[in-house]
Amino acid sequence: KGTLFVVATPIGNLEDITLRALEVLRRVAVIAAEDTRHTRKLLSRYDIHTPLVSCHAHSSAEKMERLVDRLERGEDLAVVTDAGTPSISDPGWELVAMALERHIRVAAIPGPSAAVAALVISGLPTHPFAFLGFAPPKGARRRRFFESYADLPMTRILYEAPGRLLRTLQDVLAYWGDRRVAVARELTKMHEEVFRGTIREAMDYFREGVRGEISLVVEGAPEKDRDEADDDLWREELERLLLV
Ligand code: SAM
Repeated sequence: KGTLFVVATPIGNLEDITLRALEVLRRVAVIAAEDTRHTRKLLSRYDIHTPLVSCHAHSSAEKMERLVDRLERGEDLAVVTDAGTPSISDPGWELVAMALERHIRVAAIPGPSAAVAALVISGLPTHPFAFLGFAPPKGARRRRFFESYADLPMTRILYEAPGRLLRTLQDVLAYWGDRRVAVARELTKMHEEVFRGTIREAMDYFREGVRGEISLVVEGAPEKDRDEADDDLWREELERLLLV
Protein backbone atom coordinates (compact mmCIF):
# COMPACT_ATOMS: atom_id res chain seq x y z
CA LYS A 1 0.00 0.00 0.00
CA GLY A 2 1.03 3.59 -0.56
CA THR A 3 1.33 6.43 1.93
CA LEU A 4 -0.92 9.46 2.23
CA PHE A 5 1.24 12.53 2.96
CA VAL A 6 -0.48 15.55 4.52
CA VAL A 7 1.78 18.33 3.27
CA ALA A 8 1.89 21.88 4.64
CA THR A 9 2.46 24.62 2.05
CA PRO A 10 3.19 28.36 2.49
CA ILE A 11 0.67 30.83 3.99
CA GLY A 12 1.94 33.62 1.77
CA ASN A 13 5.68 33.64 1.30
CA LEU A 14 6.45 30.90 -1.22
CA GLU A 15 9.81 30.25 0.44
CA ASP A 16 8.10 28.87 3.53
CA ILE A 17 8.10 25.28 2.38
CA THR A 18 10.28 22.54 3.77
CA LEU A 19 12.86 20.58 1.81
CA ARG A 20 10.96 17.44 2.69
CA ALA A 21 7.68 18.87 1.42
CA LEU A 22 9.30 19.64 -1.94
CA GLU A 23 10.82 16.18 -2.11
CA VAL A 24 7.51 14.48 -1.32
CA LEU A 25 5.54 16.66 -3.76
CA ARG A 26 8.09 15.77 -6.45
CA ARG A 27 7.98 12.03 -6.00
CA VAL A 28 4.36 11.13 -5.17
CA ALA A 29 2.18 9.72 -7.97
CA VAL A 30 -0.45 12.40 -7.56
CA ILE A 31 -1.21 15.52 -5.50
CA ALA A 32 -4.77 16.08 -4.30
CA ALA A 33 -5.18 19.86 -4.15
CA GLU A 34 -7.95 22.10 -2.90
CA ASP A 35 -7.50 24.35 -5.94
CA THR A 36 -5.29 22.87 -8.65
CA ARG A 37 -4.61 26.23 -10.32
CA HIS A 38 -3.40 27.70 -7.06
CA THR A 39 -1.15 24.74 -6.28
CA ARG A 40 0.20 24.68 -9.84
CA LYS A 41 1.74 28.12 -9.21
CA LEU A 42 3.61 26.79 -6.19
CA LEU A 43 4.74 23.69 -8.08
CA SER A 44 5.98 25.61 -11.09
CA ARG A 45 8.02 27.86 -8.81
CA TYR A 46 9.91 24.73 -7.72
CA ASP A 47 9.85 23.03 -11.13
CA ILE A 48 7.67 20.18 -9.91
CA HIS A 49 5.53 18.41 -12.53
CA THR A 50 3.55 15.88 -10.48
CA PRO A 51 -0.05 15.41 -11.71
CA LEU A 52 -2.73 17.24 -9.74
CA VAL A 53 -6.30 16.24 -8.99
CA SER A 54 -8.81 18.45 -7.25
CA CYS A 55 -10.05 17.45 -3.82
CA HIS A 56 -11.95 20.09 -1.88
CA ALA A 57 -14.65 20.55 0.73
CA HIS A 58 -17.39 19.69 -1.76
CA SER A 59 -15.71 16.67 -3.34
CA SER A 60 -17.90 13.59 -3.25
CA ALA A 61 -17.14 10.62 -1.04
CA GLU A 62 -16.77 8.51 -4.21
CA LYS A 63 -14.07 10.82 -5.50
CA MET A 64 -12.15 10.47 -2.25
CA GLU A 65 -12.68 6.70 -2.25
CA ARG A 66 -11.08 6.61 -5.71
CA LEU A 67 -8.03 8.38 -4.30
CA VAL A 68 -7.89 5.88 -1.48
CA ASP A 69 -8.14 3.08 -4.09
CA ARG A 70 -4.99 4.43 -5.67
CA LEU A 71 -3.25 4.37 -2.28
CA GLU A 72 -4.45 0.81 -1.84
CA ARG A 73 -2.87 -0.10 -5.17
CA GLY A 74 0.49 1.13 -3.89
CA GLU A 75 0.68 4.69 -5.13
CA ASP A 76 1.86 7.46 -2.79
CA LEU A 77 -0.37 10.51 -2.63
CA ALA A 78 0.03 14.00 -1.18
CA VAL A 79 -2.81 16.20 -0.03
CA VAL A 80 -2.36 19.99 0.02
CA THR A 81 -4.62 23.02 0.41
CA ASP A 82 -4.34 26.59 -0.82
CA ALA A 83 -2.41 27.71 2.24
CA GLY A 84 -0.82 26.26 5.32
CA THR A 85 -1.62 22.91 6.85
CA PRO A 86 -4.41 20.79 5.35
CA SER A 87 -7.29 20.03 7.76
CA ILE A 88 -6.78 23.25 9.74
CA SER A 89 -10.01 25.06 8.75
CA ASP A 90 -9.45 23.32 5.44
CA PRO A 91 -10.29 20.02 3.76
CA GLY A 92 -8.07 17.04 4.46
CA TRP A 93 -9.23 15.17 7.52
CA GLU A 94 -12.00 13.33 5.65
CA LEU A 95 -9.46 11.82 3.27
CA VAL A 96 -7.19 10.99 6.22
CA ALA A 97 -10.08 9.26 8.01
CA MET A 98 -10.99 7.22 4.90
CA ALA A 99 -7.37 6.19 4.38
CA LEU A 100 -6.99 5.14 8.02
CA GLU A 101 -10.18 3.10 7.83
CA ARG A 102 -8.52 1.11 5.09
CA HIS A 103 -5.29 0.74 7.10
CA ILE A 104 -3.25 3.02 4.89
CA ARG A 105 -0.23 4.80 6.35
CA VAL A 106 -0.72 8.52 6.84
CA ALA A 107 2.25 10.82 7.43
CA ALA A 108 2.46 14.54 8.12
CA ILE A 109 4.97 16.78 6.41
CA PRO A 110 4.70 19.65 8.90
CA GLY A 111 5.10 23.28 8.03
CA PRO A 112 3.30 26.61 8.25
CA SER A 113 -0.11 27.21 9.74
CA ALA A 114 -1.42 30.75 10.22
CA ALA A 115 -2.85 29.78 13.62
CA VAL A 116 0.48 28.83 15.15
CA ALA A 117 2.34 31.67 13.44
CA ALA A 118 -0.14 34.19 14.87
CA LEU A 119 -0.10 32.60 18.32
CA VAL A 120 3.66 32.65 18.76
CA ILE A 121 3.99 36.34 17.95
CA SER A 122 0.86 37.42 19.84
CA GLY A 123 2.61 37.98 23.14
CA LEU A 124 -0.19 36.05 24.87
CA PRO A 125 0.35 32.83 26.85
CA THR A 126 0.79 29.98 24.39
CA HIS A 127 0.01 27.09 26.68
CA PRO A 128 -2.69 25.95 26.72
CA PHE A 129 -4.40 27.37 23.67
CA ALA A 130 -7.60 26.60 21.81
CA PHE A 131 -7.98 26.83 18.05
CA LEU A 132 -11.55 27.86 17.21
CA GLY A 133 -11.28 28.41 13.45
CA PHE A 134 -13.96 30.58 11.80
CA ALA A 135 -16.91 31.72 13.91
CA PRO A 136 -20.22 30.87 12.23
CA PRO A 137 -21.22 33.97 10.21
CA LYS A 138 -24.59 34.66 11.80
CA GLY A 139 -27.65 33.61 13.72
CA ALA A 140 -28.08 31.24 16.63
CA ARG A 141 -25.01 29.22 15.69
CA ARG A 142 -22.86 32.33 16.00
CA ARG A 143 -24.37 33.24 19.36
CA ARG A 144 -23.87 29.70 20.67
CA PHE A 145 -20.28 29.72 19.42
CA PHE A 146 -19.39 32.84 21.39
CA GLU A 147 -21.36 31.78 24.46
CA SER A 148 -19.90 28.31 24.65
CA TYR A 149 -16.30 29.51 24.55
CA ALA A 150 -16.79 32.50 26.87
CA ASP A 151 -15.27 30.86 29.94
CA LEU A 152 -12.34 29.05 28.34
CA PRO A 153 -9.35 29.80 30.57
CA MET A 154 -6.94 29.77 27.65
CA THR A 155 -5.72 31.81 24.71
CA ARG A 156 -7.93 31.29 21.66
CA ILE A 157 -7.14 31.59 17.99
CA LEU A 158 -9.75 32.47 15.39
CA TYR A 159 -9.63 32.92 11.64
CA GLU A 160 -11.65 35.70 10.09
CA ALA A 161 -12.44 37.23 6.71
CA PRO A 162 -11.42 40.90 6.53
CA GLY A 163 -14.98 42.07 5.88
CA ARG A 164 -16.14 40.50 9.13
CA LEU A 165 -13.29 41.49 11.43
CA LEU A 166 -15.09 44.42 13.02
CA ARG A 167 -18.27 42.41 13.61
CA THR A 168 -16.26 39.66 15.23
CA LEU A 169 -14.35 42.07 17.46
CA GLN A 170 -17.73 43.52 18.53
CA ASP A 171 -19.03 40.05 19.39
CA VAL A 172 -15.84 39.11 21.22
CA LEU A 173 -16.26 42.27 23.30
CA ALA A 174 -19.96 41.60 23.92
CA TYR A 175 -19.64 37.91 24.83
CA TRP A 176 -16.15 37.63 26.29
CA GLY A 177 -15.46 41.16 27.53
CA ASP A 178 -12.58 43.50 26.78
CA ARG A 179 -9.46 41.37 26.61
CA ARG A 180 -6.03 41.59 25.13
CA VAL A 181 -5.90 40.65 21.48
CA ALA A 182 -3.43 40.29 18.64
CA VAL A 183 -4.72 40.77 15.12
CA ALA A 184 -2.23 39.21 12.72
CA ARG A 185 -2.69 40.32 9.14
CA GLU A 186 -0.99 39.05 5.98
CA LEU A 187 1.61 37.04 7.88
CA THR A 188 4.78 36.28 5.91
CA LYS A 189 3.62 38.62 3.10
CA MET A 190 4.63 42.09 2.00
CA HIS A 191 1.98 43.89 4.06
CA GLU A 192 2.42 41.83 7.23
CA GLU A 193 1.12 43.69 10.27
CA VAL A 194 0.34 42.70 13.84
CA PHE A 195 -1.91 44.86 15.99
CA ARG A 196 -1.58 44.19 19.73
CA GLY A 197 -3.85 45.84 22.28
CA THR A 198 -7.31 45.48 23.77
CA ILE A 199 -10.44 44.55 21.82
CA ARG A 200 -11.70 48.13 22.10
CA GLU A 201 -8.40 49.50 20.82
CA ALA A 202 -8.48 47.03 17.93
CA MET A 203 -12.03 48.12 17.04
CA ASP A 204 -10.86 51.70 16.92
CA TYR A 205 -7.73 50.85 14.94
CA PHE A 206 -9.62 48.84 12.30
CA ARG A 207 -12.76 51.02 12.23
CA GLU A 208 -12.14 52.09 8.60
CA GLY A 209 -12.05 48.47 7.49
CA VAL A 210 -9.20 46.15 6.68
CA ARG A 211 -7.95 43.95 3.84
CA GLY A 212 -5.96 40.77 3.58
CA GLU A 213 -5.89 37.54 5.54
CA ILE A 214 -6.44 37.78 9.25
CA SER A 215 -5.89 35.60 12.30
CA LEU A 216 -7.10 36.72 15.67
CA VAL A 217 -5.52 35.71 18.97
CA VAL A 218 -7.62 36.51 22.04
CA GLU A 219 -6.60 36.36 25.68
CA GLY A 220 -8.20 33.64 27.81
CA ALA A 221 -10.42 33.92 30.89
CA PRO A 222 -10.15 37.12 32.91
CA GLU A 223 -7.78 37.59 35.81
CA LYS A 224 -10.30 36.74 38.53
CA ASP A 225 -10.71 33.20 37.17
CA ARG A 226 -6.95 32.79 37.18
CA ASP A 227 -6.83 33.95 40.79
CA GLU A 228 -9.38 31.30 41.67
CA ALA A 229 -7.23 28.72 39.92
CA ASP A 230 -4.23 29.93 41.94
CA ASP A 231 -6.30 29.63 45.11
CA ASP A 232 -7.08 26.02 44.21
CA LEU A 233 -3.40 25.30 43.73
CA TRP A 234 -2.62 26.85 47.12
CA ARG A 235 -5.36 24.83 48.77
CA GLU A 236 -4.02 21.62 47.23
CA GLU A 237 -0.50 22.47 48.34
CA LEU A 238 -1.67 23.23 51.86
CA GLU A 239 -3.60 19.97 52.07
CA ARG A 240 -0.54 18.08 50.86
CA LEU A 241 1.65 19.71 53.54
CA LEU A 242 -0.91 19.01 56.26
CA LEU A 243 -1.09 15.37 55.27
CA VAL A 244 2.67 14.87 55.46
N1 SAM B 1 -5.01 25.69 6.53
C1 SAM B 1 -4.66 27.07 6.75
C2 SAM B 1 -3.62 27.15 7.85
O1 SAM B 1 -3.05 26.12 8.23
O2 SAM B 1 -3.36 28.24 8.34
C3 SAM B 1 -5.87 27.94 7.02
C4 SAM B 1 -6.89 27.91 5.92
S1 SAM B 1 -8.29 28.93 6.22
C5 SAM B 1 -9.34 28.51 4.89
C6 SAM B 1 -7.74 30.52 5.71
C7 SAM B 1 -7.69 31.52 6.87
O3 SAM B 1 -6.45 31.38 7.55
C8 SAM B 1 -7.74 32.96 6.44
O4 SAM B 1 -9.07 33.40 6.25
C9 SAM B 1 -7.09 33.65 7.62
O5 SAM B 1 -8.00 33.78 8.67
C10 SAM B 1 -6.00 32.63 8.00
N2 SAM B 1 -4.76 32.95 7.28
C11 SAM B 1 -4.26 32.33 6.19
N3 SAM B 1 -3.11 32.91 5.79
C12 SAM B 1 -2.88 33.92 6.64
C13 SAM B 1 -1.84 34.89 6.75
N4 SAM B 1 -0.85 34.94 5.86
N5 SAM B 1 -1.91 35.79 7.77
C14 SAM B 1 -2.92 35.75 8.67
N6 SAM B 1 -3.92 34.85 8.61
C15 SAM B 1 -3.91 33.95 7.61
